[in-house]
Amino acid sequence: MKDYYEILGVSRNASIEEIKAAYRNLAKKYHPDIAQNKEEAEKKFKEINEAYQVLSDPEKRKIYDKYGTIDPSYSSSYNYSNYSRSYTSGDIFDLFSDLFEDFIFEAKRSKDYKDYLFRPVKGQDIKFTLEISLEDAYFGVKKKISVPIKKACEVCQGLGFLKENINKCKVCNGSGQVSYKTQSFFGTILTSHVCPQCNGYGFTVDKNCPKCNGNKYITKQEEIEIEVPKGVDNNDILIIPNKGHEGLNGGKNGDLYVYIKILEHSFLKRKGNDLYISMPISFIDAILGTKIKVPTIEGFVDLDIPPGTQPNKEFIIPNYGMPIKDSTKKGNLIVKIDVKIPEKLNNEQRKALENIKSLFDTNYNINNSKDNNNIFSKFFTKKKK
Ligand SMILES: [Zn+2]
Ligand SMILES: [Zn+2]
Repeated sequence: MKDYYEILGVSRNASIEEIKAAYRNLAKKYHPDIAQNKEEAEKKFKEINEAYQVLSDPEKRKIYDKYGTIDPSYSSSYNYSNYSRSYTSGDIFDLFSDLFEDFIFEAKRSKDYKDYLFRPVKGQDIKFTLEISLEDAYFGVKKKISVPIKKACEVCQGLGFLKENINKCKVCNGSGQVSYKTQSFFGTILTSHVCPQCNGYGFTVDKNCPKCNGNKYITKQEEIEIEVPKGVDNNDILIIPNKGHEGLNGGKNGDLYVYIKILEHSFLKRKGNDLYISMPISFIDAILGTKIKVPTIEGFVDLDIPPGTQPNKEFIIPNYGMPIKDSTKKGNLIVKIDVKIPEKLNNEQRKALENIKSLFDTNYNINNSKDNNNIFSKFFTKKKK
């Protein structure tokens, strides 16, 4: 597995600014158009871009930190067989984020500006939070979600302006650079600067696209069916390739990241693959023992409460928890006993309890304990000496 932090030469808790700075420096150093050894630089350049692509995206970085890879085929913990994607560093345009458009342009400036305008741009990823019930997580569910997706404007094909409104810059004649001659003591000196008219782009644009007003994209709601597999947990991410924002000029679409949020259940609590339930029983039943029916997601299950069951005692019912991912097994259902003691008694109840009181040893405190092994009496006899 590649260590992206090592590749960028940053610590594991590096800030996004540190990561950007490290990337900028390395990308300049190893850019194939600049470096001496082209083949090695290209390899290194791809590696740096791949590392940057992951570490600069908080979500991808989180996945990478957790699993040591962003490639779902290495782990089943956040990916399911119906969805597959892999990151390859083959498509060079994949690797460039908007942030570095200018830098890339710099490298391409010598060429026609059309290369720049019509270069493929990868669409951005979309993050979507999907709330589901515990029952849905238990059985698995198909959900239709409506996602706002940025599509390339049909009028300008994602340029932000119309082709007929592009003009070669009159100041620099499309080169993006202007040269100044200055006379000095040593003779004529020629200095080059970025063209102030076009900011180095080599072209100017009269007006924005009338449809998207220069935004390049039009946002459209799109319905997407999500297959949520059984056993998903809070914060699991389903990655749906190609369903993110649209790429431009043949660039790939982004991906859709669906974050699972499971709503609170009325009586079941989940911890990992186990489910927890609190079952009230009367103090009489706790003393004498009883049979109870415990509600689960799939109906009731019988549980024997043995005589002498203590408050908060936990009983484990195997295989009645949540389905375990990539397995036919389930977790446990853990039943915590909540012994109910009446807060009020009527006369009859009070008399009955007083009648049986003498049959039990009720002296648990220091003042009148008959039991010399009582921990309280031991404690106080020691202190007296
Ligand atoms: Zn210019
Ligand atoms: Zn447009």
